[in-house]
Amino acid sequence: MTPSTPARSLSGMTLVAGVAGSPVSHSLSPILHNAWIQAAGVDAVYVAFAPGPQGFTRFADGLRGGVIRGLNVTAPFKQDALAIADVVSERARRAGSANLLLFAADGRIHADNTDGVGLLYAFHSQAPGFEPASAPIVVLGAGGAARGAVAAFLAEGAPEVRVVNRDPARAASLAEMFGTRVRVVAPADLAAVLGDAGGLINATPQGLGGSPSPLALFEAAGSACVVMDMIYKPIRTRFLMGAAEAGLRTVDGLSMLIGQAIPSFEAFFGAAPPAIDIRRIALEQLESAA
Ligand code: NAP
Repeated sequence: MTPSTPARSLSGMTLVAGVAGSPVSHSLSPILHNAWIQAAGVDAVYVAFAPGPQGFTRFADGLRGGVIRGLNVTAPFKQDALAIADVVSERARRAGSANLLLFAADGRIHADNTDGVGLLYAFHSQAPGFEPASAPIVVLGAGGAARGAVAAFLAEGAPEVRVVNRDPARAASLAEMFGTRVRVVAPADLAAVLGDAGGLINATPQGLGGSPSPLALFEAAGSACVVMDMIYKPIRTRFLMGAAEAGLRTVDGLSMLIGQAIPSFEAFFGAAPPAIDIRRIALEQLESAA
């Protein structure tokens, strides 16, 4: 067997962190964290765990006491991760899910959610000058990622967040959690609420599907509207291509993934990730897997 990266010696002191999901083999998180670990020269390793669809809680419970430093958590376990935690950060509570668990030596599990940080990092990296408080934000979706986006933009002072979802009841219950600055908009009215929007975020695995045509939709948006897609496979989605064709600035899901990984790395290993071109490394991995 030929290793794809130079061999690293592991020791009895090697710190372990990882990502748990189901499925998880597609996750880019091991690529990001191990590249940083290697560049920083930390005695650590970051691995993927697939506890099985019903197995997350038992798996995480077994890690109490610091068997490993911590876990990033991805679909479908983010809500289970929040539920198992003993100490929950305010942003995880508001997002209703956790993407980061830390296992303390005293047996307690600490939960956090860095997806909102990642989302804002992505906007600031790829749309310099973007100001979250300057105009309403439109979010497509009402699942965990959408809820995290709503929480992050409200915390940044967005005057209004408009939630558009296939299932209106789910959108309504999300809006109820956050109060009057969140408004539910029917999918048929999406174009009508884009004119004064400062941002449009796709937080569904589908984007716009077949209709309406993305170009027609994006032409309804003001020229200052920044369009973001949380999907990063492919990196240039039909949603983002439609926005770019209409002359709008775009932000991709890979930037968000990197942005949520930075505070995770800091939490696992106690230092900021080294300044390497992590986006290039991730893009190479995406290309080789395509
Ligand atoms: P989720 O909790 O399962 O929610 C999915 C949402 O998408 C729901 O609002 C659902 O609508 C909607 N949806 C699903 N299929 C749809 C379709 N065919 N047409 C229209 N709407 C559809 O998932 P999630 O955790 O929020 O994740 C959403 C997306 O964000 C995923 O693609 C995920 O990979 C991505 N994500 C990316 C990052 C990143 O770092 N880049 C981080 C987190 C999530 P209903 O309520 O009507 O079912």
